[in-house]
Amino acid sequence: MKNAPWLPLLRAELDEQSAYLPESGNFRIHLDANEAPPLLSDKARARLAEVASQTAWERYPDPTAARLREAIATYSGVTPSEVLVGVGSDELITILLTALGEAKGRSPRSVVTTTPGFVMYRMSARLRGLPVLEVPLDPSWDIPEKSLLAATQNTHPGILFLASPNNPTGTLFSLHRLRSVIEAAPEWLVVIDEAYIDYAELNQLELLREYPNVVILRTLSKVGFASLRLGWLLGPSGLVRELDKVRLPYNINGLSQKLGQVVLTELAAEIRQTCECVRVERTRLAQALAKIPGVSVTPSQANFIWFRTEVPAEKVFDSLKNQGVLVRSFHGRGGRLAHQLRVTVGTPDEDLEFLDALGRALSEAA
Ligand SMILES: *Cc1c(COP(=O)(O)O)cnc(C)c1O
Repeated sequence: MKNAPWLPLLRAELDEQSAYLPESGNFRIHLDANEAPPLLSDKARARLAEVASQTAWERYPDPTAARLREAIATYSGVTPSEVLVGVGSDELITILLTALGEAKGRSPRSVVTTTPGFVMYRMSARLRGLPVLEVPLDPSWDIPEKSLLAATQNTHPGILFLASPNNPTGTLFSLHRLRSVIEAAPEWLVVIDEAYIDYAELNQLELLREYPNVVILRTLSKVGFASLRLGWLLGPSGLVRELDKVRLPYNINGLSQKLGQVVLTELAAEIRQTCECVRVERTRLAQALAKIPGVSVTPSQANFIWFRTEVPAEKVFDSLKNQGVLVRSFHGRGGRLAHQLRVTVGTPDEDLEFLDALGRALSEAA
């Protein structure tokens, strides 16, 4: 490429990546991104607008986000020194990976995660030149204890990313298996990504208390505030201090700091209500899906449902798309994923439209 003298300067890993571009285009119904339905009350909206209007626009925000971290600490049941804030948990994943050093002999540290799993672990790690090992989940989409242990024993200790509840499977990993993996890999940092924990029957905060090699990631994105781009890491204060050296001083903008603080205090009850509505609707949607011949449903602990279609997922996905309904398909990865789809729990109306469209998609594909 003659007119691209910069090309040889770029890191080779860019070749294997593409920019993260969610499906574009106009769809009637977006059930592809695990966002919460728009249930925020008018009163809450007015309060957020009021707080936003008081912004000192000419000032840099608090570089330590102290008041926000206090609100997060209270909300999560930890101390502020155990909280690191990020532009979504995505940024915390990059901060963790940026802080990772080299093993003896300058070998890179390893990143291990599951497949299927959240794509950002791999993307972020590869962009930093780190080797990534993806271990297939077991047949019930739970932790494959043996192969995960083998993966950690055969590589240089680094970071093990486990999303629980997992995306895209919606499964909460067995606590017993989580513990044995954490205990068998004391030299690894085990990151438990709890992006969907508000929809699950229990959280895994006790693991943070019990093991010095565990950190937890949480976010506002899946409970009604994806627009704020606010996530946080809960971890040992010593580690938080080190990671804070990687974080850009003003990563959380002034609006997100103030609005996030209001959301986590004054609007905490609204978050709980939204999650409760979604859980009720999840049950309804899962039951309706399970009744459709040729469809099987994995029990969900998140705000989306992972289901299998006897016909190829690609056909179902395309037909849904043509009908204006967007879900997520993983058929590109082949194997057992070629029959799996992920649908976000929407409003009752959206879910009915999705079910209608799915019925048509399945009869077309049959
Ligand atoms: C959506 C998601 C996140 C990212 O959330 P942000 O806070 O919006 O960056 C992290 N982990 C998992 C497993 C997710 O599904």
